[in-house]
Amino acid sequence: MAVFPNLSSLAERAERLNARLSECDICPRRCRVNRKAGERGVCRVGGNAAVASFGPHFGEEAPLVGNNGSGTVFFSGCNLRCVFCQNYEISHMGEGGEVSAERLAGIFLSIQRMGCHNLNLVTPTHVTSQIVEALSLASSGGLSIPVVYNCGGYESVDTLQELEGVVDIYMPDVKFLDAEPAGRYCDAPDYPEVVRAALTEMDRQVGPLSLDLHGIALRGVLVRHLVMPGEASTTRRVIDFLADEIGKDTYLNLMHQYRPCGRALEFPEIGRRTAAGEWREARDYALEKGMFRLAGG
Ligand code: SF4
Repeated sequence: MAVFPNLSSLAERAERLNARLSECDICPRRCRVNRKAGERGVCRVGGNAAVASFGPHFGEEAPLVGNNGSGTVFFSGCNLRCVFCQNYEISHMGEGGEVSAERLAGIFLSIQRMGCHNLNLVTPTHVTSQIVEALSLASSGGLSIPVVYNCGGYESVDTLQELEGVVDIYMPDVKFLDAEPAGRYCDAPDYPEVVRAALTEMDRQVGPLSLDLHGIALRGVLVRHLVMPGEASTTRRVIDFLADEIGKDTYLNLMHQYRPCGRALEFPEIGRRTAAGEWREARDYALEKGMFRLAGG
């Protein structure tokens, strides 16, 4: 069950985050555009959130899916915009429609009515302000399922701090820990230091993933790493970071399903699927490092 701060505190957080949209610094891009006046930064989203789809999803990690599915809400736009994005139409092409805070709160409550085990906010970073406002409304309407923050890992610590006690489960990607691929594929050479700080903050807030008696996630951090073709050293660095600095008990989904989407074919070295052997090598390395809560494959 989500442990929301009291409603006035939640509304205050929403107000503080909303004020930042006039010179937007919600994420590490710090575009300083006035989103309330319709200006758009890297994420290409203005003052209102936009939603591409929502409903029960059965393709997420087992502890989120259970019997009834994870209640995903796919937000349009993205602050990271990887060239190989596996949801390119939604994150880059703006597929989806704008929603008011009231409509978004209604979507959140409908997810709960559908019986989903959690509210899974997909690509939430750039619309954190709008999400907190909607959660404030939905919590007064009885929202109580765990809130999952399913993000790319390119997060500002000060924004994450506004989510303490609001988000139950953080599910960040850790994509790269080298500036070179982060710059080449995401135009974010600072991604390594940003994601390290973000993950440390997430872990401080909620700790390792905890499950109920039925194996359903209640609270904690669940990390995703997409094993990419020819990036074995990147994967090893990610595993080293998790094992040595966050904890060997970190739940890690080593994802094998990379395929060249979006603009990936412009980069020949990532213009193929990840080979089964590359994924096995990653899993073996994680096991050698003592990571014992592995998913994927
Ligand atoms: S949320 Fe969007 S506009 Fe704001 S800093 Fe990030 S990318 Fe720029």
